[in-house]
Amino acid sequence: MSSSPPTRDAEAQAATGEHTTDSDSRRGVDLQQHFAGPMGNCLYVVGDRSSQQAFLVDPAFEPLELHRKATGAGYDVVGVILTHTHQDHVGGELFGMQIPGVRELLAEHPDLPVHVHEAEARRLVELTGIAEANVRVLIDEQTLRLGELDIRCIHCPGHSPGGVSFLTEGQLIAGDTLFVQGVGRVDLPGSDPDALFYSLRRLIELPPETRVFPGHRTGEDASSTIGREIRLNPYLRPKTVEQWRMMMGVF
Ligand SMILES: [Zn+2]
Repeated sequence: MSSSPPTRDAEAQAATGEHTTDSDSRRGVDLQQHFAGPMGNCLYVVGDRSSQQAFLVDPAFEPLELHRKATGAGYDVVGVILTHTHQDHVGGELFGMQIPGVRELLAEHPDLPVHVHEAEARRLVELTGIAEANVRVLIDEQTLRLGELDIRCIHCPGHSPGGVSFLTEGQLIAGDTLFVQGVGRVDLPGSDPDALFYSLRRLIELPPETRVFPGHRTGEDASSTIGREIRLNPYLRPKTVEQWRMMMGVF
């Protein structure tokens, strides 16, 4: 799918929730969004139509179901990419709840590489207990290859130290950096409010038609565009870090 500007239909379709970036084309990206868990987490299958290879993104709560959805759509799952390592994105214990995630996925599919930013690679291993041999470390502006697709990794610290947004063919998987008319929390261990401000400044430099797919569904609309967020998202209004700190109540 080319990065043609979204139409009103695209925005309306985004609002309906679980969907796929529809195209008859036999090439390009096929991004499937799924929802799981009590916090409205968004899980994704990123498929390359040409090679029929796919990555799973943030496979928590229903990791094996997500894998089955990908293979059911005809894809060969060749790896996992993580926007960050909070338990609701990778699995692990949270508030006494045991969330299935990459550990359960690798128990069934032990050869899958799991890509995570270098700042959270250790945390991933400690939290989930997966083998270091499965871990592939990402850095800022690295390009991941999926079949014929290039996936650009944009380091977005702030919500967590190793947050990554993934951009391919005009589609941005933003994790907990940017939500539809919201942003990720900055009051957690490892959060850095100023860093989130600068990460958001980078994302809003992307073309306005870039589709935004968040780490959580925060309202009726499950996705947006950079241009729409610049218009509607109050957290993107501060132009300086001082204005941002004021807004976030950080002094
Ligand atoms: Zn998070």
